[in-house]
Amino acid sequence: MAATISAALAGASSSVVAASSVGRATDVLQRSEVKGAAFASSSRSFGAVRSVVLGEQSSASASAGLKTFNGLRAGSVFKKEYDSLTEAVHAEAAVEEEFTLTIYAGRSSKVLEGRKLRVAVVGGGPAGGCAAETLAQGGIETFMFERKLDNAKPCGGAIPLCMIGEFNLPLDIIDRKVTKMKMISPSNVAVDVGKTLNENEYIGMVRREVLDSYLRDRAQSYGANVINGLFLKMDIPKDDNSPYVLHYNDYSDGSKVGVAKTLEVDAVIGADGANSRVAKDIDAGEYDYAIAFQERIKIPADKMEYYENLAEMYVGDDVSPDFYGWVFPKCDHVAVGTGTVVNKPAIKKYQTATRNRAKDKIAGGEIIRIEAHPIPEHPRPRRVAARVALVGDAAGYVTKCSGEGIYFAAKSGRMCAEAIVQGSGNGTRMVNEADLRVYLEKWDKTYWPTYKVLDILQKVFYRSNPAREAFVEMCADDYVQKMTFDSYLYKTVVPGNPLDDIKLAFNTIGSLVRANALRREGQKSRV
Ligand SMILES: Cc1cc2nc3c(=O)[nH]c(=O)nc-3n(C[C@H](O)[C@H](O)[C@H](O)COP(=O)(O)OP(=O)(O)OC[C@H]3O[C@@H](n4cnc5c(N)ncnc54)[C@H](O)[C@@H]3O)c2cc1C
Repeated sequence: MAATISAALAGASSSVVAASSVGRATDVLQRSEVKGAAFASSSRSFGAVRSVVLGEQSSASASAGLKTFNGLRAGSVFKKEYDSLTEAVHAEAAVEEEFTLTIYAGRSSKVLEGRKLRVAVVGGGPAGGCAAETLAQGGIETFMFERKLDNAKPCGGAIPLCMIGEFNLPLDIIDRKVTKMKMISPSNVAVDVGKTLNENEYIGMVRREVLDSYLRDRAQSYGANVINGLFLKMDIPKDDNSPYVLHYNDYSDGSKVGVAKTLEVDAVIGADGANSRVAKDIDAGEYDYAIAFQERIKIPADKMEYYENLAEMYVGDDVSPDFYGWVFPKCDHVAVGTGTVVNKPAIKKYQTATRNRAKDKIAGGEIIRIEAHPIPEHPRPRRVAARVALVGDAAGYVTKCSGEGIYFAAKSGRMCAEAIVQGSGNGTRMVNEADLRVYLEKWDKTYWPTYKVLDILQKVFYRSNPAREAFVEMCADDYVQKMTFDSYLYKTVVPGNPLDDIKLAFNTIGSLVRANALRREGQKSRV
C-alpha cells in the first residue's frame, strides 16, 4: 500500500538513524522479538465473489462530508519533546550496535565439475520472479516453483515510480497513474497530497496477476525453469556439499491433485510469501502480522472518474486502531481495504467503517471480490540458514506504517540472487552461508533505517485520533509532501533543506503536542 506520507517522513528523518547504522556488517534484524502464534492455521485467504450493491441506505453510520484543510495552524517550538523523540531513535540504534556480528564471505567452496549450481526459488510472486530472473541471467540452473500460475495475490497493487525503471517494467502493465492522494483524518479533514509532483511523476497501480506473471515469464525467457507445483517440504542435507531434496506436487499435467515429485538442488530461496513453508523448514521463527482485508468494488463510471488518478487514505479508530483504510483505483474498479495487528477479530467492523467513510463516492458499487491475507510486521528472527535464504514477505520485509511490500520483495529477491551469483562465481562453485549472508548485510545496511523510522512513526502517529489529526495536519505542508513523494517514489533518502528540516521538526512537535493536549481534554471529558 502506498502510504507515501509515512515513507516521506522516514526519508526526512532517517539521517538520525542512518548515522548510527552505516558501516555495520551485521544481521541486526535477526533479533526481532518473536511474538504471536503461527498464522498459517489462524488465517486464510478469501476469494469469495459476492454481489452486493452498495447504497447510502445500507450504511450503518453516516459519513460526514469532507472538510478541506488549508494549511498548518500556527505551531510553537517544543524542543523538549523533539529531543526525547530523537533520543528514543538513538537509543534503539545503540542497542542494535551491541549485537554487531561480522561474517566474511568464504572462498573455500568446492568447484562444481561438469554442471552449474542448481538453485530452487519457491514462490513466483515479485520476490520469486525477480530472484529467478537474476539467477538465470547469472548462469545458475534455476527452478522456480509457483503453485498457481494465475494467482491474484490480495494486494492494493501500488508500486513506486522507481520500480518501473529499476525493474524495466513495461508501461502497459500499469493500470493507473496516481498523482493525487487524499489523506483523510478521523474528523474527515481531507488534505490533498501530490501538489509537488512534476508531470512525469506518479504512483503506479498494477494488478498482481499481471505483474507477477510478467516477471515469471521474463525469468523463464532468461532460462529459468518454471514449475507449476506446490512445494511441500525439503530434506536438509547433513554436510556442506550434499543437495537439498525438495518434495512437491507437480500440476503441469493439469490435474488438481498433482503428481508427487522430488528435485535436488544446491541452494534454496524461500519467496513463498507470508505463510512460507521454506521458513518453517529452516526454523526461521515467527513474526507478528497484520491481517489485511480488501473488497474489490465495481462502481458506476461517473464515480470511477473521481478515482481516475486519485487514491484515498483514511485514518481513525473507526477504520483501524493501528493502520489505515484505503481506496485505491484499479483498472475498472476500486479496491477498498484496511488492516490491523492489534484487533484482528474486528477486521470486518473496520472494513465496514472504511466503506462507510467513502460511501458517497462508491455509492451504487458492487462488491465483486473479497480477499484477506496476512502482512508481516517485521523480519523473521532468522532469514538465512546454511544454503537457504528468505526474501520478500517470507523474510518479513513489509514496511510498518505504509504496509508497502512489492518493491521490497522484488528488490530482496534480486539482491539475494546477486549474492548467490557472485558467491558461486556465476554458478561454477558451491555456495555457503557466508555467501548468502552478503545479501543480508547489504539489505540491512540499505533498508534498516527506513524500517526503523517507519516503525517509530507508526507508534507515534497511529496511536490515537488526536495523533492522527496531527499526522494529517502535517501532510498539508509542501515540504512534507515533497519529502514524502521523493522518498516513496525513488526509495532514496533525499537530502533535505536544513532550514526546512528544522521547520518540519518543530511543526511535527507542535502537531504532536497539540494532539496530546487534545487527547488529555478528551480523557477529562470522559471522566
Ligand atoms: C490486502 C493487501 C494489500 C496490499 N497492498 C500493497 C500495496 O498496495 N503496495 C505494496 O507495495 N504492497 C502491498 N501489500 C503487500 C504485498 O502484497 C506483499 O508485500 C508482496 O506481495 C510480497 O511479495 P512476495 O513475492 O514476497 O510474496 P507473495 O506476493 O505472497 O508471493 C508468494 C508466491 O508464492 C506462491 N507460493 C506460496 N506458497 C507456495 C508453495 N508452497 N509452493 C509453490 N508456490 C507457493 C504464491 O502462490 C505466490 O504467488 C499488500 C498486502 C495485502 C495483504
